[in-house]
Amino acid sequence: MIIIALGAPGAGKGTQAKVISENHGIPHISTGDIFRANIKNQTELGMKAKAYMDQGLLVPDELVVDLLVDRIKQADCVKGYLLDGFPRTIPQAEALDRALNNRGDKVEYAINIDVPDEFIVTRMGGRRACVTCGATYHVEFSPTKVEGICDKCQGSLIVRDDDKPETVMKRLEIYHEQTQPLIDYYAAQGALYTVDGTKDIADVTAQIEAVLSK
Ligand code: ADP
Ligand code: ADP
Ligand code: ZN
Repeated sequence: MIIIALGAPGAGKGTQAKVISENHGIPHISTGDIFRANIKNQTELGMKAKAYMDQGLLVPDELVVDLLVDRIKQADCVKGYLLDGFPRTIPQAEALDRALNNRGDKVEYAINIDVPDEFIVTRMGGRRACVTCGATYHVEFSPTKVEGICDKCQGSLIVRDDDKPETVMKRLEIYHEQTQPLIDYYAAQGALYTVDGTKDIADVTAQIEAVLSK
């Protein structure tokens, strides 16, 4: 089962990907999480990626594609996987298709979590991330039991550097320019399924599960 999550920054890709990948016993692969782990460990890749991420820009395709293609060759991916935040450009989608074609695989479900721009600033402004385990919360829509402390690991919560309002606007602009064209790309392959991402978290999960049971 090869699933990709499409949608604007803050649409709920990461939130849904965690639940869906657990429900189906497949790995959740987030290129954003991979970059953030590299930044935390101060690797060369992390330093390069950070310069783009802090400005709300995409990391160049050549820094993302090989990394992702290597990741999906790992043993835990044999039964499938859920990609969150990849592909984000047409060249990334084409590179993924080439890698999959070589093995007789294809993207089965491209799930577009549809959320209009006017919701996004509120979503991102309230997003909190655990510094230790990466879990994501929202001050209003998905609060932790104790303010500022991760429910899962007791780590502290922070506002991501790239969730400041100015950077969010830039990321949205880049999303419309570079990532939104993937909706037509996957529609043309007959793999596109759109869900209403403005509903509450559990409702969106139910819509996605309904798609996956088709
Ligand atoms: P969000 O979940 O809010 O959409 P991500 O965690 O997926 O954000 O990504 C954060 C940042 O990491 C992006 O703004 C971009 O700079 C970089 N990034 C993540 N995945 C990719 C990718 N596939 N291609 C290019 N840049 C990426
Ligand atoms: P993405 O990975 O697409 O950038 P996230 O999953 O990190 O998005 O969600 C962005 C923010 O919105 C987080 O604070 C999250 O808790 C919250 N959120 C996610 N889904 C919903 C929803 N359906 N309704 C309200 N808030 C949501
Ligand atoms: Zn945590």
